[in-house]
Amino acid sequence: MARVFVITGPSGVGKGTLIRRLRETLPELRLSVSATTRPPREGEEHGRDYWFLDDAEFARRVGEGDFVEHAEYAGRRYGTLREELDRHLGEGAPVVLEIEVQGARQIRETMPEAVQVFVVPPSFEVLQQRLETRGTDGADTIARRLEVSRTELESQHEFDHRIVNDDLEATVDELVGIVRAQLDGAAAQA
Ligand code: 5GP
Repeated sequence: MARVFVITGPSGVGKGTLIRRLRETLPELRLSVSATTRPPREGEEHGRDYWFLDDAEFARRVGEGDFVEHAEYAGRRYGTLREELDRHLGEGAPVVLEIEVQGARQIRETMPEAVQVFVVPPSFEVLQQRLETRGTDGADTIARRLEVSRTELESQHEFDHRIVNDDLEATVDELVGIVRAQLDGAAAQA
């Protein structure tokens, strides 16, 4: 049964909020803190939100094979550190990854038992509005992210589970249902 859960989908679709709510309901789920070369946003902390690495360090760690997946997204690098994932799994905890589509594909290859959920926005316009009102990115970054989102949305059918993030409460329930079914199955097998 799955112990690794991948939440993917375009930037601004609400993956972070959904994962926060999921973990409030299922507190045994651990979040894997990713590494990135993008600079921290206001209020973000090294080791809590991301491991913020410079380009050289990220490249070095790619060379060392430290990542289970990594990708370039809108001009920056992002990746899941093997030690981060192994630490949680080694402690017997299920883990959730919040990653973009290229990384999710890599995980599908290397960990086919992982459960992947693609979060779909109600419409492209809603996604655009969310990115604009979130206020975390400038106009250029938003334009770039929306461009990537179009391609990401085209790949949604590759994923076993797709949930439309329209009504937040309903979407949280759906996500909790998917994860809980796997965790209950794993408990029943143990
Ligand atoms: P942001 O810069 O908004 O924090 O993240 C940009 C995109 O990178 C989001 O779609 C986010 O889910 C994704 N991302 C975050 N961490 C990782 C990671 O470790 N690997 C991959 N492949 N994507 C990630």
